[in-house]
Amino acid sequence: SITEKTSDNNSSTTETRTSNADSIIQIENLNKWYGAFHVLKDINLDVAKGERIVVCGPSGSGKSTLIRCINRLEEFQEGSLTVDGVALNEDIKNIEAVRREVGMVFQHFNLFPHLTILENLTLAPLWVRKIPKKEAEATAMEYLERVKIPDQALKFPGQLSGGQQQRVAIARSLCMNPKIMLFDEPTSALDPEMISEVLDVMVELAEEGMTMLCVTHEMGFAKKVADRVIFMDAGQIVEQNNPHEFFDNPQNERTQAFLSQII
Ligand code: ADP
Ligand code: MG
Repeated sequence: SITEKTSDNNSSTTETRTSNADSIIQIENLNKWYGAFHVLKDINLDVAKGERIVVCGPSGSGKSTLIRCINRLEEFQEGSLTVDGVALNEDIKNIEAVRREVGMVFQHFNLFPHLTILENLTLAPLWVRKIPKKEAEATAMEYLERVKIPDQALKFPGQLSGGQQQRVAIARSLCMNPKIMLFDEPTSALDPEMISEVLDVMVELAEEGMTMLCVTHEMGFAKKVADRVIFMDAGQIVEQNNPHEFFDNPQNERTQAFLSQII
């Protein structure tokens, strides 16, 4: 692999990048503790560019913690994690470089309630990226069209349904032009009738070639778009496979027990 210094037009930061043709995330022997509690145990995971991964497993198995490590919302103590050639370490330039490329959507949409939908979408482009207002608004409207709610642009989050708010949250991430999207149970706080409108947007994104890691128990979504399903239990990746093999022929007894409960 080639190591190079790259600089970003929007800031004076410089991070060290190692290029690798097909892999965009490399996680090696990652271990994390919350105090004395060993939450992630020797995680090894390589994600290819454009790969769609679904992460599932029982509550408390470390799924959120793992994907939050990828944009450094959580720190880890051992091992290495590289995103698009940038090693996540203590270097703030590297952390900022990774965060520029990784979008995240949470279970509870985390929109700013006192800002309109359009303002929610343009906030970071305006203030973090220094994009001119007209351009930021045009991009925001483009993404609101894509998630099929351009007519909601001037409303406040509280005036929208949960499904609409989650689509706004996805559009807001996309406005930052990420290379990777992380989803942490994006539909689990929604009323059942709103789940499909959010999954439809995620399927479209997957079909456009976005690299995605999705923590979800929506097995229909996993079967439709995932290249790989990863099963976690007690801080470990216990089993992984393509959806067909994973659902029809699970090998590990913990996977079998989990699937028998949710399907
Ligand atoms: P999952 O997303 O699979 O439900 P999490 O990654 O949220 O699991 O949590 C894994 C384990 O770590 C759980 O036992 C949880 O209680 C614990 N945990 C999560 N966040 C913290 C924290 N900030 N401090 C201490 N323990 C935590
Ligand atoms: Mg979680």
